[in-house]
Amino acid sequence: MTIAFEPGLSRATARIRMAEELERTGIAEGRGDARFLLLHLLGLTQTDLSLRGNEPIGPVGAETLTDALQRRLAGEPVARILGEWEFRGLTFALSPETLVPRPDTETLVDTALRLVAHPSPTVLDLGTGSGCILVALLSAWPGARGIGIDRSQDAVATARRNAAANGVADRSLFLRGDWCEAVRGPFDLIVSNPPYIASSVIPTLAEEVREHDPMAGLDGGADGLDAYRSIIGALGTRPELLAPGGRLMLEIGYDQAETVGALAPGAGLVVEGIARDLAGHSRVVTLRPSSDVTSACNTGA
Ligand code: GLN
Repeated sequence: MTIAFEPGLSRATARIRMAEELERTGIAEGRGDARFLLLHLLGLTQTDLSLRGNEPIGPVGAETLTDALQRRLAGEPVARILGEWEFRGLTFALSPETLVPRPDTETLVDTALRLVAHPSPTVLDLGTGSGCILVALLSAWPGARGIGIDRSQDAVATARRNAAANGVADRSLFLRGDWCEAVRGPFDLIVSNPPYIASSVIPTLAEEVREHDPMAGLDGGADGLDAYRSIIGALGTRPELLAPGGRLMLEIGYDQAETVGALAPGAGLVVEGIARDLAGHSRVVTLRPSSDVTSACNTGA
């Protein structure tokens, strides 16, 4: 039986008890998690905690923290307990059918912002989930418009909410659908962070991912490449989805640059470049129609 917090307990003591309890259970980031949960759930700043740490958490705080501690002890990630997570400085609500936005995916957004010269591109985001990629892009490009597609109605509704909360609802549209099936081009940029983990690897994932992220956002089929085959294949049959000069940017697993790149020629695409994440892993592959690319561009890294 875990501890229940009393309303009269001070903020500082609540933080310490929470950290101790998490560390006792073997949660590696126990101290950081306790601080993060306490600040967010009680709506405090670091200063509130440092300078007014002896104020009581109160009855609502006691109930909220007791519930959060129990959930964290049961293995639920901090992001799921809070029900929201930050991505490129914006806050995104989460729901059961959306992945928690990952720092790795910021590489995709950064790469798009660096490579796309068009000041107000049209963007298509396939498997949008929480909408974090599309919303971050529209937020960075004030004139851009975009469509986010997801197979899950729950994800579509969450992405819509996130677009509204981040001020880009009037420039975005979220639809339920299967990859590009429901849309007509042309788009200046097509992005996707599809499921790319091989089915056999799923059981080896960290419990926090395996048990709490939606399988539809993770499982990429027998070799992890099913989604890439569908997306790249769709561009092969419908090249008009990309506007002249347009690009397809895909998040990939750290060891998939070669196998994903190898799918490109069959669809009339070439690899323009591969971007690395902060850990130095290949993380984003950028593809362009071979007809758009001169041999000079093609030799670039
Ligand atoms: N990078 C994610 C993870 O590590 C995988 C997300 C995906 O398959 N798109 O869990």
